[in-house]
Amino acid sequence: MFDWLVVGAGFAGSVLAERLASQRNERVLLIDRRPHIGGNAFDRYDAAGVLIHQYGPHIFHTNSKAIFEHLSQFTEWRLYEHRVLAEVDGMKVPIPINLTTINKLYGLSLTSTEMEGWLAARAEPVEEIRTARDVVVGTVGRELYEKFFCGYTRKQWGLDPSELDKAVTARVPTRTNTDDRYFSDAHQFMPAEGYTKMFNRMVNHPNIEVMLETDYRDVCDLIPHKRLIFTGPIDEYFGYRFGKLPYRSLSFEHVTLDKEWHQPVAVVNYPQTNAYTRVTEYKHMTGQRHPKTSLTYEYSCEEGDPYYPIPRPQNAELFKRYERLALSTQNVWFVGRLATYRYYNMDQVVGQALATFRRINEQLSGSKPIAAWERLELSA
Ligand code: FAD
Ligand code: UDP
Repeated sequence: MFDWLVVGAGFAGSVLAERLASQRNERVLLIDRRPHIGGNAFDRYDAAGVLIHQYGPHIFHTNSKAIFEHLSQFTEWRLYEHRVLAEVDGMKVPIPINLTTINKLYGLSLTSTEMEGWLAARAEPVEEIRTARDVVVGTVGRELYEKFFCGYTRKQWGLDPSELDKAVTARVPTRTNTDDRYFSDAHQFMPAEGYTKMFNRMVNHPNIEVMLETDYRDVCDLIPHKRLIFTGPIDEYFGYRFGKLPYRSLSFEHVTLDKEWHQPVAVVNYPQTNAYTRVTEYKHMTGQRHPKTSLTYEYSCEEGDPYYPIPRPQNAELFKRYERLALSTQNVWFVGRLATYRYYNMDQVVGQALATFRRINEQLSGSKPIAAWERLELSA
């Protein structure tokens, strides 16, 4: 009899499995239907020996010291600040839009203050910022919106930005200085030996058993367990009884080139051209030195494995119905990007898993005391 069956060996499932095993000394069976641990953060060496991310580029960034320190138990880090270029009007320019972007795109030599005025003259007042279109048009105006956001968003989501929540494009700021980093968080790193190594260390515990290529549906009645953590799609858990929750899928084309470098930065976005959204060249991120280079072309699609919850009001409504059901389901905890239908980054999922662990500990009486740092409010 296992104390816990944990479904999904991504961040949500692996972080919780480790906590339950090491802090509560309970027996955990961690399963995943994929042939590996790590969820979407899984990385591996390809045939050429280049470390690639199987499911697209993953860069760790957080403002939470507690979350960063938690993961630091399982990995050393490599300092890495992510930079992205967008190919717009035939030029490769920094995204998020910054002073360099505008000066290069329009052949100008504005100062930061001048750029503020330049943007203010173009930004269109939006009464209530509600959608992913409003955010951008209200900040930089229609022309830059068309160039950088409209096409990319349509490719990525299969929807017009006016049909998506503002939070989607609000992830990408606008800057009037020359800071060209994609993220501005206090902690920005890559796991020194990769994500999979970090996950291996996390789940390598005598109280944790891992079973891969194992779907929950196939084993739930066969494996005796007292409690369940579910990190897969919540609508799937409940047999789609209220209808399917839409998730956006992706497909990845991994290629290796017989040259050392292909592009100037790790990621180039294509908002105006090509069927793919972005191209990733991993060696920029991992720091690996290799005479060849490996890239991933990323395409977005409707059918396939679920990758992104789609943030829009009708989906939030449907999720709420499943969430109400989840709250009344005894001995099951729903955690992670798919189970809580939230467009979360890795650090937010880790924060959510640690917060869930604290709640579990509080709920189950006779628990061992919680480590002091875990009582800190985790603010992912
Ligand atoms: P997942 O990683 O999806 O893990 C869930 C696991 O559950 C999966 O392995 C799945 O196989 C398994 N599963 C589901 N259902 C079942 C079932 N019925 N039975 C058995 N197993 C099941 N975040 C960042 O912070 N920085 C980034 O740069 C970044 N880049 C990203 C790029 C892409 C292309 C994508 C898609 C996401 C990116 N993210 C990034 C987000 C990041 O991937 C997630 O926040 C994180 O991996 C979510 O972890 P999770 O455990 O909730 O879900
Ligand atoms: N986005 C865009 N153009 C870009 C980059 C982002 O239109 O060059 C929009 C798009 O809708 C995207 C969202 O902003 O889905 C969030 O971008 P982010 O890079 O955070 O997406 P993720 O890495 O999660 O796919």
